[in-house]
Amino acid sequence: MNLPYAEPFKIKMVENIYKSTFEHRTKWIKEASFNLFNLRSEQVFIDLLTDSGTGAMSDRQWSAMMSADESYAGASSYYRLKETVKDITGFCYFLPTHQGRAAENVLFSVLVKEGDIVPGNSHFDTTKGHIEFRKATAVDCTIDEAKDTASLHPFKGNVDMTKLEDVLQKNPSGKIPFIIVTVTNNTAGGQPVSMENIREVSKLAQKFGVRLIIDSARFAENAWFIKTREKGYADKSIREIVREMFSYADGMTMSAKKDAIVNMGGFIGFNDEELFREASTFNIMFEGFLTYGGLSGRDMEALARGLYEGTDLGYLESRIGQVAYLGNLLKKYDIPVLEPFGGHAVFIDALKFLPGIIREEFPAQTLAAELYIEGGLRGVEIGALMADRDPVTRQNRYPDLEMVRLAIPRRVYTDNHMNYAAAVIRNVFERRENITRGFKIIREAPIMRHFTIELERC
Ligand SMILES: *Cc1c(COP(=O)(O)O)cnc(C)c1O
Repeated sequence: MNLPYAEPFKIKMVENIYKSTFEHRTKWIKEASFNLFNLRSEQVFIDLLTDSGTGAMSDRQWSAMMSADESYAGASSYYRLKETVKDITGFCYFLPTHQGRAAENVLFSVLVKEGDIVPGNSHFDTTKGHIEFRKATAVDCTIDEAKDTASLHPFKGNVDMTKLEDVLQKNPSGKIPFIIVTVTNNTAGGQPVSMENIREVSKLAQKFGVRLIIDSARFAENAWFIKTREKGYADKSIREIVREMFSYADGMTMSAKKDAIVNMGGFIGFNDEELFREASTFNIMFEGFLTYGGLSGRDMEALARGLYEGTDLGYLESRIGQVAYLGNLLKKYDIPVLEPFGGHAVFIDALKFLPGIIREEFPAQTLAAELYIEGGLRGVEIGALMADRDPVTRQNRYPDLEMVRLAIPRRVYTDNHMNYAAAVIRNVFERRENITRGFKIIREAPIMRHFTIELERC
């Protein structure tokens, strides 16, 4: 018998979580205006809102924090992180930032100007935000298979080379500061990008004299998918694969709150000394001096160790194994889920789950609210509310996919918690015929509305 995956760690400290009643939750969700971001975390039993900054740190990370160097300039903790970034990614120059969007803010301040075009594979919302904020345009060149929740393509996060070449040909290279490839592709459902695809994008970028930047939040999970799905990589180590991925890029932005398993942190990696120098000025302005950039010494210590722990094969096997465990349970219960399962989350297809709710009444948000009421399970809507209104016409945008994302924090929940989550979803699935009313918006912000939106039942 093949031995199943098991976590390569055991639990040393626990945090209590609280079960509530159906009546309590019905009241609380109404008080929260049916927006799950407005709930207090104590009102949630299993929190699958996000895997960002919610991971559990190891004893090694915590103990390294105790011996951190908090000097303003030249802290040893900075040098330890710098060496780790070089060792893991290969980038010689690096700037610490307080999180991923701060890395975007600093790098894009140097590279992106009004009228520019930044092609990529389903840009992450903050990435897109930082591009559009500078009056530039993000062009999505993801392969079409990404829109089909039933397609079993092994690398659904890939860039479509024809779409990309088209953008590069139609625009002068001076208007394209870089191509950005996000690994794994969060917006497309945590789907990986193949090494072959990264290599091809890099070749094309060189041909057109355009930089390639990797948005790297889940680079280690991407490497695991390359190892297990792509020909020629089964015998390579995760760290070898990671080094090869980054070798094709000119730079990287990183949200360390994901694959570096810290609660806060980020950085930028570069090869080009000139670009590093230009970005340094913005880092000092927005983040902090070059040797801390918005992080304390202890944050940098935890991050340096987290980069090694997050690229450990046994860890990645249990992490991605747990996501698949939940996904397979839901499949067994006939619940419509996005396949193949992503690296960090399971996505429920709300249009198939609640076909009776019209899109104008936000089926994914309706489902997310029901999952909370049923069992205190918090996921997040990835659908029309998150897609926002069209900036020009102000009409609601209805994306191809309307989903509830269940993102699993790293090293936090047991498989038994996954059994519980699946049972909650199954109960709602069994009573789905009785869910006939969605929501209408009573208050919304002009941009990034999903965080603060207020809703009412139709
Ligand atoms: C989380 C994330 C970001 C932004 O990082 P923050 O740390 O949340 O600011 C950017 N890109 C991707 C792909 C992400 O997952």
